[in-house]
Amino acid sequence: MMKPFNKILIANRGEIACRIIRTARALGVGTVAVYSDADAQAQHVALADAAVHIGPPAVSQSYLRGDVIIQAALDSGAQAIHPGYGFLSENPDFVDAVEQAGLVFIGPSASAIRAMGLKDAAKKLMQQAGVPVVPGYHGENQDPAFLSAQADDIGYPVLIKARAGGGGKGMRRVDDPSDFAAALASAQREGVSAFGDGHVLIEKYVSAPRHIEVQVFGDSHGNVVHLFERDCSLQRRHQKVIEEAPAPGMTGDVRAAMTEAAVTAAKAIGYSGAGTIEFIADGSGPLRPDGFWFMEMNTRLQVEHPVTEAITGVDLVAWQLLVAAGAPLPCTQDQLTISGHAFEARLYAEDPGNNFLPATGTLHHLSFHDGARNDTGVRSGDEISPWYDPMIAKIITHGATRAEALDRLRTALAQTHVAGTVTNAGFLAALAAHQGFNAGHFDTGLIARDLDTLCAAVPLSETHLAFAAYSALDLAPGASGGGTPPGWRLWGTAQTEVLMLHGTETLARTLSFESGDSVTLSGGPEPVTLSEIRRDGAALSARVGAQRIRCGARVARADLGAGALVSVLSEGRTTDLIVPDARSGQAARADTGNAVLAPMTGVVIQLSAAIGDRVTQGQVLGVMEAMKMETTLVAPRDGIIAAVACAVGAPVEGGLALITFEDEAAE
Ligand code: ADP
Ligand code: ADP
Ligand code: MG
Repeated sequence: MMKPFNKILIANRGEIACRIIRTARALGVGTVAVYSDADAQAQHVALADAAVHIGPPAVSQSYLRGDVIIQAALDSGAQAIHPGYGFLSENPDFVDAVEQAGLVFIGPSASAIRAMGLKDAAKKLMQQAGVPVVPGYHGENQDPAFLSAQADDIGYPVLIKARAGGGGKGMRRVDDPSDFAAALASAQREGVSAFGDGHVLIEKYVSAPRHIEVQVFGDSHGNVVHLFERDCSLQRRHQKVIEEAPAPGMTGDVRAAMTEAAVTAAKAIGYSGAGTIEFIADGSGPLRPDGFWFMEMNTRLQVEHPVTEAITGVDLVAWQLLVAAGAPLPCTQDQLTISGHAFEARLYAEDPGNNFLPATGTLHHLSFHDGARNDTGVRSGDEISPWYDPMIAKIITHGATRAEALDRLRTALAQTHVAGTVTNAGFLAALAAHQGFNAGHFDTGLIARDLDTLCAAVPLSETHLAFAAYSALDLAPGASGGGTPPGWRLWGTAQTEVLMLHGTETLARTLSFESGDSVTLSGGPEPVTLSEIRRDGAALSARVGAQRIRCGARVARADLGAGALVSVLSEGRTTDLIVPDARSGQAARADTGNAVLAPMTGVVIQLSAAIGDRVTQGQVLGVMEAMKMETTLVAPRDGIIAAVACAVGAPVEGGLALITFEDEAAE
């Protein structure tokens, strides 16, 4: 492949910036990242060849500052700017400014973006081009009484849409005429506050709607091809959650009609670059060639573009770069074929149990399944900050058949481990296991209808915690460290305190060993005893009360150093817990008389003890940090400090005597 540019600037952040950098690098193109104060340590900055600071965290002062970004491109010698998605990607004034600065915008022309920028104008244009559009009113008259009469003519239910809307915002479904006025006012308000435009259109609400979109690609020589369709019907509040390609139930006839309409739409505006024509289809029965309508065009690379890449083998970002550099499309329509089936699930830091409230936090641990494509912009230790979209990753799987690709998605989700924030992973897993979805019978209402079941959290039971603590100690019969942990008394009951981090919660429990195969976890709502513990393949089983319970608890020690990540698998869901190294904690308990031992491997971040100090029992002598978790070091008894074997900022091994007391007899 030719090298399209020497150097490009990526005017974005997160996973999409990282994804673009990867392809640029593969093509031998130099990359310049931009970053706000909040992203100074971000992965996209680390990946790029160079990075330019563009401002404070707020997007209006950084990632939306077209002028600053263009200057950064000029200063760093970049020839072109890739906008990614969101931010400046669909801003025609930015495209004009980029071109006026003598740079190339990697995307469509400003005029194509303007033609499709407002949903009402886009629909008129498409109607003229002979593309079927959703029946409705998309004129200028915004008088509420007039619009209400239009809604009556269209027939309920209707959908009110802010014409400037995007990302599912500014949209209201109305089922009953008596609700129309209030819904109109609220859609207009949202249009003004989110997009600075309160203008609306009214559409027929398509029943049992399916969102099916066509990926198109044009070049500057007048060629346009399509790369088949994606089904994005799994949505929550009009936002996509899981996407797939091709669409279930798609027939040759319908595909021909839909892709032809999409190519016609793109040609009507002289489209160049990657674009998506979104259709709404009647999903109340089998798909029909006359049962789909144009909704809008997204004049950019789409979040869900990887599913198309998976089934066609095309690198859409590579095509974007080539086409922007003036090259013709690398292949003709005939050379494009569908191979197998692909899914993408969007993993977010958000709380399904709390109305999907966006979450933040430091990702103590992040790891993915090797068998999937995992597009992410964060690593273990990175932070999900409140400033930007809380997306953690997109997990993409491919298989020969839909069933195989979906099976791989379930596996990949179960092996995606995130600790440090609450995520929608369980919700995605429940969706991937949903019967109707598995059968390919679904529409955009599926999630809302089954929301309660899909969001039902698997309660974190004391039994699960006991399995997790036991597994983390690596004491299972046959485990590598099997048997009794070092420093443990071999008689009577031995106890250890175990801290477990779950999301943003810290759970403190005590684990007591009664015998080789029986433990009791206490300190929680109620104590639980696991007895007759056995290894059962990869899982553990134990008797709890009268029942024998099997619980998969997978322990990973990779990149944790000072502890274990325990994934408790039960009822088809995975709960990830971090268990800081408990061995060192046991050592600490073995001899608490004369010394303060490091409860885990970590760094001393504060010390308030010096040789000769007289301290009282319980007094805080210092603070240690391990895996971003702080632990205070307290005096085990009254006494005088004889030695301090650590310093602030110094890493220490778990179990090490940090502070030693003078012998009681000597005092
Ligand atoms: P659509 O295909 O319906 O336009 P996409 O998922 O591709 O939806 O995203 C639409 C736009 O909204 C994108 O430009 C994306 O950056 C932005 N977006 C998507 N989800 C969010 C979110 N949760 N918060 C903020 N912006 C978002
Ligand atoms: P946005 O710019 O926010 O992506 P869209 O016009 O693409 O707005 O609509 C977003 C989603 O709303 C669609 O994916 C679809 O699920 C739903 N939707 C839009 N129009 C209709 C309609 N006429 N009938 C039923 N559902 C619709
Ligand atoms: Mg849309």
